[in-house]
Amino acid sequence: MKNISARDKKHLWHPLTQHKLHPDTIAITRAKGALLYDEEGREYIDGIASWYTCMYGHCHPYIAEAAHRQMTQLDQVVFSGFTHEPAVRLSEALMEILPENQQKLFFSDNGSTASDVAIKMALQYHFNQGRKRDVLVAFEEGFHGDTFGAMSVSGLSVYNGPFSDFFLNVERIPVPDGNNNREVAGKFERILRAGNVAGFIYEPLVQGAAAMKMHDAEGLNTLIGLCRKYDVIAIADEVMTGFGKTGRNFASEYMDHLPDIISMSKALTAGMVPMALTSCTREVYDAFYSDDIGKGLFHGHTYSANPVACTVALSGIELLKSGEMQENIRRVSASHRRFDEDIRKHPKVARTRQLGVIYAMDLEVSTERYGGLRDKLFRFFMEKGVYLRPLGNTIYILAPYVVTDEQLQKVYEVIKAALDELL
Ligand SMILES: *Cc1c(COP(=O)(O)O)cnc(C)c1O
Repeated sequence: MKNISARDKKHLWHPLTQHKLHPDTIAITRAKGALLYDEEGREYIDGIASWYTCMYGHCHPYIAEAAHRQMTQLDQVVFSGFTHEPAVRLSEALMEILPENQQKLFFSDNGSTASDVAIKMALQYHFNQGRKRDVLVAFEEGFHGDTFGAMSVSGLSVYNGPFSDFFLNVERIPVPDGNNNREVAGKFERILRAGNVAGFIYEPLVQGAAAMKMHDAEGLNTLIGLCRKYDVIAIADEVMTGFGKTGRNFASEYMDHLPDIISMSKALTAGMVPMALTSCTREVYDAFYSDDIGKGLFHGHTYSANPVACTVALSGIELLKSGEMQENIRRVSASHRRFDEDIRKHPKVARTRQLGVIYAMDLEVSTERYGGLRDKLFRFFMEKGVYLRPLGNTIYILAPYVVTDEQLQKVYEVIKAALDELL
């Protein structure tokens, strides 16, 4: 039998891939903690926690055992009209860590659908109260997913180009960076004054797909405050930032004004199975609570609140809350800070930034060079046993919280070697 990578080419179509330019894949056969192993037995440190999902480590036995128990107890049941213990326990656990104004939880399957649910909640919140509000506001370089609603509010044109004629009505504002806060707030308020804005969707403080671009908490707080003033629904997309990555359970905790809606996925289920949640305030929920059936939220996925996924999420939250995991988060954050003191002075480093365990550096390279550079960096890192996915001219680290100090040192050394040897 041919190896896995070779057999892959016959029928599989990979996400976010131009197969003509990138025909090859690496077959991963197992994972443990912060490590991935390929079919040839090579190991890689998972420097991006497989897209920020398996933050407590791959194949965590505590989660795997809970999932197995649940699989033999109740696998799947319709969540309209039925409920179950894993969903109820998960809701209770989330209420303890979500910002206090979040009171209701709606299930879906991935970050994109969590965004779509949030957008539908915001639009119907106004519709149910007899207001026509058909505009959404989003950040210029935001990313909220690949379904049509989520894509509409995302600002990264390489993904969205062919579909832009079919998008929702969206106005865009720049992120507040600490210097432009007044301008951004001014532009935002001019848009809100028109009176037709239903909601504002944003990735709080860190924009993952925009290469871990970070913005100003004070500035964002002002924008959320303006949403209050104009009865506009503030939607925090915490799909990337949620569950401890920023040093707090949710990035929204860095602001005084709280969002009306929060979307969650990725680390919600610790990298084990897909699931997503959209949480909202009692006030949002109440706009749908009516004798009129048509005012309900008629959105639903077949696998809503899958019991195994709920169990996995619950176990993940238990791990997150443990003293050991909180200590890991502090340890990794402090380690990045020490690395940064050194590396930010490197002549090939233009700028660095960090929030919690999220660390990013922009490289000092001319735009002509950077086309092929991303692939060269990726190959260099992989040859040295570190899985990182540079974005444009940005290298970022978002390793599982359980990454060891030795593994972190190796990640730093490999990055430094790339700066010295490749640039
Ligand atoms: C990944 C991501 C999404 C989309 O989630 P999927 O599970 O890939 O659909 C949405 N928003 C943010 C901020 C993300 O990082």
